[in-house]
Amino acid sequence: MQTHFSKEQLKNKDNKSSEKIFRKCVHCGFCNATCPTYQLLGDELDGPRGRIYLIKDMLENNKPANEKIVKHIDRCLSCYSCMTTCPSGVNYMHLIDHGRSHIEKTYKRPFSDRFIRDFLSKTLSKSFNFRVIAILTQFIKPFRFFFPKKIREMISLMPSKFPRKTLPKMEIYSLKNKKKPVARVALLTGCVQKVISPQINEATIRLLNRHGIEVIVPKGIDCCGSLNHHLGKGDLANRTFKNNISIWYEEYLNKGLDAIISNTSGCGTTLKDYGFIFRSDENFKKRAKKISELTKDIAEYLDEKVKLNFVIKPANEKKYKIAYHSACSMQHGQKIHKQPINLIKKTGNEILEISDGHVCCGSAGTYNLLQSDIAKKLLKNKVRNIEKIKPQFISTGNIGCITQIANGTKIPILHTVEIIDWYTGGPKPEILKSL
Ligand code: SF4
Ligand code: SF4
Repeated sequence: MQTHFSKEQLKNKDNKSSEKIFRKCVHCGFCNATCPTYQLLGDELDGPRGRIYLIKDMLENNKPANEKIVKHIDRCLSCYSCMTTCPSGVNYMHLIDHGRSHIEKTYKRPFSDRFIRDFLSKTLSKSFNFRVIAILTQFIKPFRFFFPKKIREMISLMPSKFPRKTLPKMEIYSLKNKKKPVARVALLTGCVQKVISPQINEATIRLLNRHGIEVIVPKGIDCCGSLNHHLGKGDLANRTFKNNISIWYEEYLNKGLDAIISNTSGCGTTLKDYGFIFRSDENFKKRAKKISELTKDIAEYLDEKVKLNFVIKPANEKKYKIAYHSACSMQHGQKIHKQPINLIKKTGNEILEISDGHVCCGSAGTYNLLQSDIAKKLLKNKVRNIEKIKPQFISTGNIGCITQIANGTKIPILHTVEIIDWYTGGPKPEILKSL
């Protein structure tokens, strides 16, 4: 794709990086074939190629965003399916992030939009705030029909119950009997995840400890920053990024870290991008790059680094049919697909393939709250494809997908790490007790 940025414009680091990406695009449109919003809406501007043109036009012509551009950019799920399909290696993720930040700087959204986006930014990225709002929401749930559609839908998506925590909150989860650990990792426990599904972090910690790995959960780290990053709120996101980078890097220097584990693939994708985000920041670039290099999804880490000790011998046990849902941030964002499947296969259970598995379930961070009509259609398609293959339960690696899919089906859904924990000596997940 030809570009027409001036020399002056290319002095800006973001323009410079985006220009290189635009040049890789050969307009072939292959990406449209796997783009969920293009498939649903059939409009070129709701596909990756059309969005790339919109972003290029804004940046090259120093054009402020307008209502039409914002509509099409907002409809993008950031599922990155287009990146998997693109034969030219166009990094759409970096273009859409740049486009969103340009929109935030140049476009004044209607009051109601600003209010909702600010509200989500302040509540979802802080676990304490989220917990308070989630509890308060229980009281207004019966009266949600009096609220405007968007608020009503947000209230409906709030969880109704919170599982009991079984592990005490600690900064260091050391091995029992003071054994010398074989590795030391930091765990990102996630701002929303630790409130609505603490059992995922607990399974991760138990499983790692059981295999001789010490786990640290630094007190000052809450959110990974991706929520604000994807809302285009660059300053807020950067504050979180810098905080996390400083804390983890200090830990890495002082006591050593073999990995930073993410068990929420949406967050892991952003951690792995810290290096790019701070590529021109003299203060942070070295540290950010290191944090990205250390980051591993839990499935990636277990598959590559840990010799798992399975205590449930599949030959003597009941076998389950499990549908594996590959989260977009996992398969497209981090290119991790076979590792979680390998892990589940080791449990001896049967894995069922979900047709159109490359297509998003509609969760996509705050997307199911902000673009609920499209998200509902995607959820309906996903659930139809899952129910068709009749699994006994579903496994995935992202809390957003777990929450979204659970809203559309009665088939139990749990995190892959809960299955591996169970088969290596942990408790049977609560949600499967009746199976
Ligand atoms: S990220 Fe997903 S929704 Fe956005 S353009 Fe790419 S494929 Fe389409
Ligand atoms: S597939 Fe890649 S090269 Fe082709 S239009 Fe899409 S982004 Fe451009």
